Amino acid sequence: MSSREDGIMIILSSPSGAGKTTITKLLSDSENYTISVSHTTRKPRENEVNAKDYFFVDEEEFKLLVQNDEFLEHARVFNNFYGTTKTPVINSLEKGKNVIFDIDWQGTKQIKEKNLKYKLITFFILPPSKKVLFERLSNRDMKDKLIAEERMRQFGKDVLHWVDYDYVVINDDLNSCYKEVNKIIKSEINNTSNTYNVDIIKKHVNQLID
Ligand code: ADP
Ligand code: 5GP
Repeated sequence: MSSREDGIMIILSSPSGAGKTTITKLLSDSENYTISVSHTTRKPRENEVNAKDYFFVDEEEFKLLVQNDEFLEHARVFNNFYGTTKTPVINSLEKGKNVIFDIDWQGTKQIKEKNLKYKLITFFILPPSKKVLFERLSNRDMKDKLIAEERMRQFGKDVLHWVDYDYVVINDDLNSCYKEVNKIIKSEINNTSNTYNVDIIKKHVNQLID
């Protein structure tokens, strides 16, 4: 059983570019939240800082971490490897800190299957439209249009994983979306029941993949 003082785990996933990293950062500004910093073999983007955004490692280092059973979960995403190391996560949770994970559906599935003693809330973030998603990806990955295009191609498959999450939210206006996620987390912490409108989300997803 999780003790009352343990932190909770909050996972945010989405198709690439929908805004989970942005929302994760906003949430982590609140007291008592910490972001789980993943390891990746992907090359850093221009504004990314090692040990803050990711631990950027080569494939050899990554494989060593896998061999040494250091990861809570790990997966291959867009031709790169990504993984969450166990020790910092467990240390934070044991100290009562809430840990936010910006990871994909494969990692979410692995963490869910572990049935850890800590409370877990999972969110799936959707973009308002495909057009807006492409604009966001193109602005972010300005140097490499191919990356934006590759991630758009993956979108149709990635978006279907919304069904496996506790909550699904649409990130149109950033502040509204952040407030919605924050409100759900607060009520989950207080054990107040929550739902989201599945029919609206189903319709929205159908429009997105049309
Ligand atoms: P993800 O982590 O899901 O791949 P990011 O958080 O990196 O996506 O967001 C992709 C881009 O879209 C970033 O440049 C970010 O600043 C921008 N962005 C995120 N949410 C919004 C929003 N609600 N309105 C406008 N731009 C946004
Ligand atoms: P990006 O390269 O845009 O930062 O991330 C690409 C994808 O990898 C995103 O869906 C992101 O959530 C996911 N990701 C980032 N870190 C991890 C991780 O540690 N594990 C898993 N499974 N996915 C991750």
